[in-house]
Amino acid sequence: MSRTREIAAAAEAAGKHFNGRDGFANAGLKNLYVCIGESMGVGADSSSGCGQAMWTIDREPGVTPFLAKCRHCGGYAQSKAYRVPQDTAADFEWYRPDGRA
Ligand SMILES: [Zn+2]
Repeated sequence: MSRTREIAAAAEAAGKHFNGRDGFANAGLKNLYVCIGESMGVGADSSSGCGQAMWTIDREPGVTPFLAKCRHCGGYAQSKAYRVPQDTAADFEWYRPDGRA
């Protein structure tokens, strides 16, 4: 199976799962990822990172990462799990791969 078809199949499977009865209505929600640097896990906080943050918006239902790569220092940026003001502009979007890579 080609990589494109693999991605399309995974997206279709994810769509069936997350649009179903066990879905999380995250589409349209804003989230904040704050850099925690190179350390991660219990006790990690933004004081050990570079201080940068990125605002995101979920465009479709589905899973988004808890940790993302900090675009400033390459460390870990940790999700605030949507416990942030929703009226803030987002810098990045999370969307489901559609196989058009
Ligand atoms: Zn950073």
